[in-house]
Amino acid sequence: MEKILFLAHTDTAGALPKVALEVLGGAMETAKSLGGAPLTVGLLGGDLKAAADSVAGCGAESFLAVSGDEFTVSRYATDAAAAEALVRKSDATLVVVPATSRFSRAIPGVAQRVEGRVDTHVTGIEIEAGSPQIERWYYRQRMVAKLAREGRPWFMLVDSGVFDAVDCLAGSAALENVAVEMPATRTQVLGEEAATAEAQTIRPEAELLFVAGAGWTKKQADGQSHLPEAEQLILDFLRGSLASLGSSKSLVDQSGEGQEVLSFMSHMNQVGQTGSTPRHPKGLATCCHGEEPHVVGWRFIKERRAVNLDPGCGWAQGKADVLYVADAFEVMAKVNELLGK
Ligand SMILES: Cc1cc2nc3c(=O)[nH]c(=O)nc-3n(C[C@H](O)[C@H](O)[C@H](O)COP(=O)(O)OP(=O)(O)OC[C@H]3O[C@@H](n4cnc5c(N)ncnc54)[C@H](O)[C@@H]3O)c2cc1C
Repeated sequence: MEKILFLAHTDTAGALPKVALEVLGGAMETAKSLGGAPLTVGLLGGDLKAAADSVAGCGAESFLAVSGDEFTVSRYATDAAAAEALVRKSDATLVVVPATSRFSRAIPGVAQRVEGRVDTHVTGIEIEAGSPQIERWYYRQRMVAKLAREGRPWFMLVDSGVFDAVDCLAGSAALENVAVEMPATRTQVLGEEAATAEAQTIRPEAELLFVAGAGWTKKQADGQSHLPEAEQLILDFLRGSLASLGSSKSLVDQSGEGQEVLSFMSHMNQVGQTGSTPRHPKGLATCCHGEEPHVVGWRFIKERRAVNLDPGCGWAQGKADVLYVADAFEVMAKVNELLGK
C-alpha cells in the first residue's frame, strides 16, 4: 500500500499558498483513488498551527511539523533538511509537493538524499491498474506523457492550476513536531525583491491573462499610432481587473530594437514558444494576431477570447473560443468604463 505525504511551506503571512491548497486537493484525490491510502500532512515554516488548522479536515492521519524562525524563509539548506526530516518521519512512498519556487529548488536534492525519485512540472496524477501515474508535458507543451515509476519515495512537484483549491477544511489539527538536525548555514536571508518593477504586472494567481500584441503600437485607421492612449487603456484595465499582463513576442521585441514601446512591458511578459506558458482560467488577447508560436503558450488557458480587426487572424482559425472582430481601442475603453462603474 502506498503512503502519501503532502508537503507544504507557509507564506509570509503564515498561511498556505493557493498552490498548496490546490495540490492538497490532488493528494486527497490520489489517496482516495488508491482505495484510502494513508495521508500525512508535513508542514514547514514559523508558527504552523493556523496553517494546519486551515486544512484540519483533509483526512490526514497525522500532521507533522518542522517549525522555527529559521524555517520561515526560503533557504536551500534549511528547506532541504526540514523536508528530509518530514519524509523520513512519515515513511511515505509518494511525496506530493506544490511546485513553489522554494520547493522546486530544494526538493530534487531531498529526493537524492533519501534515494528517491523526483518529477517536476507534474500536471496530473491518476491511478492506472492500482498504481499511480503522472502527467507531464514536453517540448514546450507540445507533447504530453504519462509516466509510472518503481522507485520510492517518488516526489511529485505539481504545477499550479492543475487541481481545484480545497476549501472548508478548517478545524483543529494536532501537530506533531519533528526534530531536525540543523545544517550549517552560510546564507542569511535579508528580504525579498521582485526582479523588476515590470514583473509586478505578472500575476500568476490572476483569474485572467490579458495579452497585448504589436497591434497596439501600429498605425491605426487615422494613419497615426496611439501609444500613450494604448498605455493608458491597458494600465486602466489591469488596475480594474487585476489581470496578469502577457505579451506577444513582436511587441516586447520592439523595445530591444529601440522603437517606441509600452514602457511597462518586458520580455518577462512574453507568452509563447520562446516565452512562458502561464495558467489562468481565462485569457483575452488584444491586437495580437494569434500565430502558432504565440498560441502554443496558451496551452493551459481554459477559456480564450480575442479582439482583432482582422476576421482572418490566427484566433479565428480555431484558436479562440470567441473572437470579437473589433477595434481593441474602442472595446477596451468601453470595458474600462464598465469596470469603473
Ligand atoms: C522560433 C520562433 C519562436 C517564436 N516565439 C514566440 C513567442 O514565444 N511568443 C510570441 O508571441 N511569438 C513568438 N514568435 C513570433 C510569432 O510567430 C509572431 O510573429 C508574433 O506572435 C506576432 O505578434 P503579434 O500578433 O503581436 O503581431 P502582428 O503579427 O503584427 O499582429 C498584430 C495584430 O494586431 C491587430 N490589430 C492592429 N490594430 C488593432 C486594433 N486597433 N484592434 C484590434 N486589433 C488590431 C492586427 O490585425 C494584427 O492581427 C516566434 C516565432 C518564431 C519563428
